[in-house]
Amino acid sequence: IVVFDHVQKSYDGENLVVKDLNLQVARGEFLTMLGPSGSGKTTVLMMLAGFETPTHGQILLEGTPINNVPPHKRGIGMVFQNYALFPHMTVGENLAFPLEVRGMNKADAEAKVKRALEMVRLPEFGNRRPAQLSGGQQQRVAVARALVFEPELVLMDEPLGALDKNLREEMQYEIKHIHESLGVSMVYVTHDQSEALTMSNRIAVFEDGVIQQLAAPDDLYERPDNAFVAGFIGENN
Ligand code: ATP
Repeated sequence: IVVFDHVQKSYDGENLVVKDLNLQVARGEFLTMLGPSGSGKTTVLMMLAGFETPTHGQILLEGTPINNVPPHKRGIGMVFQNYALFPHMTVGENLAFPLEVRGMNKADAEAKVKRALEMVRLPEFGNRRPAQLSGGQQQRVAVARALVFEPELVLMDEPLGALDKNLREEMQYEIKHIHESLGVSMVYVTHDQSEALTMSNRIAVFEDGVIQQLAAPDDLYERPDNAFVAGFIGENN
């Protein structure tokens, strides 16, 4: 569904933070970008979302070059660590917003909002404002908002980073369940090895703007290609 074709990114015209990235994401796949802080994961996600433009190379979505397509025309769902819900709107209004932007009528939008809230197990929360929810509940709403317009592709950047350990594990399970039941393609960013290992179909391990290894979790764990991957996957495990 996604192809990165020789993609490079420099913010200052000098240092490459993403170096000659060639990567394909299969339809329905859960692909995780894992790596230390500053290795370029978020930059890759921002280019796919359309908030940054590659310095070189091309990104294709469903076979179409998208370097010049603005974010809201890409039809991609997104979840970030800091939720970014509209504080002055209720949960229901937050979820209806991406549908109204797409011109959906009120009745259809309401039905979709209801379904999305059920999916993240918050059916009763449509009339609350974000400030009246816990952090974990707000993050669930952010997940629901990314899914409500039924995108083929969803991007998540450290979505569970702000949550405590128990809630993080619960949400890992829920996100994985949603991925499987909807069959969406997922590109997920984390620096948490165990999160990557439990959730992904494949993991791309980043170091310094380069993928050191791209493999299924078992392969990565049992057959790391080099000392960096072995060290990074081994950490905290
Ligand atoms: P983290 O896990 O900390 O988010 P990351 O792997 O996602 O790290 P990026 O955020 O992609 O890494 O950053 C890669 C490099 O690019 C870093 O050196 C960072 O300082 C730099 N960088 C990121 N965004 C910008 C920007 N908007 N302007 C200039 N430099 C940037």
